[in-house]
Amino acid sequence: MTYWVGLTGGIGSGKSQAAAEFARLGVPVIDADEVSRSLTADHGAALPEIRARLGNELFDTKGRLNRAALRDRVFRRPQAKQVLESIMHPLILAEIRRRQSEAEQVYGVIDIPLLIEQPAFSVLAHRILVVDVSEATQIERVQSRSGLDTGEIKRIMASQACRRERLLAADDVLPNEGTLAELAVKVQRLHRYYRAYFSRFSRANP
Ligand code: ADP
Repeated sequence: MTYWVGLTGGIGSGKSQAAAEFARLGVPVIDADEVSRSLTADHGAALPEIRARLGNELFDTKGRLNRAALRDRVFRRPQAKQVLESIMHPLILAEIRRRQSEAEQVYGVIDIPLLIEQPAFSVLAHRILVVDVSEATQIERVQSRSGLDTGEIKRIMASQACRRERLLAADDVLPNEGTLAELAVKVQRLHRYYRAYFSRFSRANP
């Protein structure tokens, strides 16, 4: 059996960076955002239900989903957001479970941004690892990554759990105010810890 660490944190905290470090060490990594995108890509499994329940006008003549129109709809209409989540969440859960069942290592990592906000996903992880930075660092790093303006970044942050809520839910915390090299060293240390921790767990629960 493979055990799973749910890697989470606010926008720009460094989840993708940390996930890449785990992957470099040979740990299987599942990216929940990528799973979600694959379900809504061309011929994705979520498209028929999105079309049926949210409308044809979100699709172009070739049957491709207009993501910007969908984002806009969900932003303006909370009810549409609920419908979209009721379509997407069971599919995301099922696809992540499918990928989990293929892993053979002692443990793996799921990079899952909304783990705290969406408790339904907590069944996927045995431990929660929160990447933690100050809000000022989040804003600065998102700005240099994507050029979004401060107002837009703050709007996204306001829609996510706050730092305190995340830290309360964490089993382990990965502070990421330092350099990328320091982050890599911390991930290596966590990797040694998780390997030993989950191996012991495996022996006790064969
Ligand atoms: P998330 O996946 O949580 O949104 P990312 O991993 O994409 O965050 O990190 C946000 C940005 O900050 C990226 O451009 C990333 O390269 C950069 N970054 C992450 N950690 C550090 C760090 N310790 N030092 C400098 N830049 C960092």
